[in-house]
Amino acid sequence: MQRERVTDTIHVFRSDLYVQVTAGLVMTEAGAVLIDTLLYPEETAAIKRFVEQRLGSHVKYLINTHHHADHTLGTCFFPDAHVISHRLCRELLDTRGRDAIRSMQESSNDLADTQVVLPATVFDDQMTLTVGDQTFELTWSPGHSEDSITCLVADSQVLFAADTVMPLPTFVDGNIDQLVGSIQRLQHQPYETIIQGHGEVILRGELPGRLEEDLNYLSALKTQVERAISNGKKSPHEIADVIPVEACGKEKIVLHGAAIQLHESNVYALAASMLSNAPVNT
Ligand SMILES: [Zn+2]
Repeated sequence: MQRERVTDTIHVFRSDLYVQVTAGLVMTEAGAVLIDTLLYPEETAAIKRFVEQRLGSHVKYLINTHHHADHTLGTCFFPDAHVISHRLCRELLDTRGRDAIRSMQESSNDLADTQVVLPATVFDDQMTLTVGDQTFELTWSPGHSEDSITCLVADSQVLFAADTVMPLPTFVDGNIDQLVGSIQRLQHQPYETIIQGHGEVILRGELPGRLEEDLNYLSALKTQVERAISNGKKSPHEIADVIPVEACGKEKIVLHGAAIQLHESNVYALAASMLSNAPVNT
């Protein structure tokens, strides 16, 4: 796990074990706020040790940015923390989340001690959380998944964007048009730094270009899938074959090569939904 200090009070943890997933820590006068956890218990345990032993504090609030296990599965290791999420996140953790953990536990012994924790406080559109001297603005940001949120640390203008911003945007569990809207809402904002749900921290100077690149990717993807369908391609499989990730302006090497798989899943999901809505020629 990599640890990076973003400001005097904000740290980011990035997994070495699972697709560079990130978690964030904000220190306040009244305890620590943890934004997501990491997938594998050993990495979440290292975060806990850092807070308790190195910083002499404890996690008072834990924010789940969405229900996906790579972000939430470590929640059970903070039994004293007050957990907050979007309303849909709690519903999805209780349904799909439980199923996902069961099947992950069957394939990995490392996850045997994990369990789903349902958030104690939920919100719909927006929530302001004040902890000690810090204020957090939580905002619904659907697209990557229906329940995704972002978390702004107001004082420092550091935005935890979670999976709304990823080196390769994904929407297989959500909706491409909603994701476009959610990324557009982050443009032209006075953020100092964006912490994405996977990968490197994005600094202020890189922000406009990066968000533009993500929007261009989603737009190119949509155009190319439409074109493939109008050229007579009949299945998601056929369509995925003719649209490599580079054709949509992203590189294969992103996220240590996971980009290829993520992109393919995007093409499948989009092609399947467009084919099912396309007029049938008889
Ligand atoms: Zn996710």
